Amino acid sequence: MDTYDKSMAPRFGQLLDQRLARLRAILQSEMPTESTGAHDVVDFKDMASDESIAAIDEAQSARAARDLEHVLAAKRRLADNSYGMCEACGEPIDLRRLTALPETAMCTACQSLDEHPAAGRR
Ligand SMILES: [Zn+2]
Repeated sequence: MDTYDKSMAPRFGQLLDQRLARLRAILQSEMPTESTGAHDVVDFKDMASDESIAAIDEAQSARAARDLEHVLAAKRRLADNSYGMCEACGEPIDLRRLTALPETAMCTACQSLDEHPAAGRR
């Protein structure tokens, strides 16, 4: 199994930055208010007629906000050299999994055991 190595930090830093930029774009396009950096984006829109659209938007931006937190946490792990290790069992995460999902904090086995949305929160 190929695993993460510190020499790959710049590459993964780049991958994470790309995801960060994309998620920020999603969140900004769905937030008309100019609240920079705020992550509690729950905001009831004044468009009662567009309820279903708003609900989709809300689910999408809630997911983007959650993904954004994961990406930021991954960048912190990259900086303190704990990146690439499973948060749950401490084993190295498969490099293919990391490449596909650079913000992941858990190996495949632990992820399927623990599908808690609150996991990995600080
Ligand atoms: Zn694990």
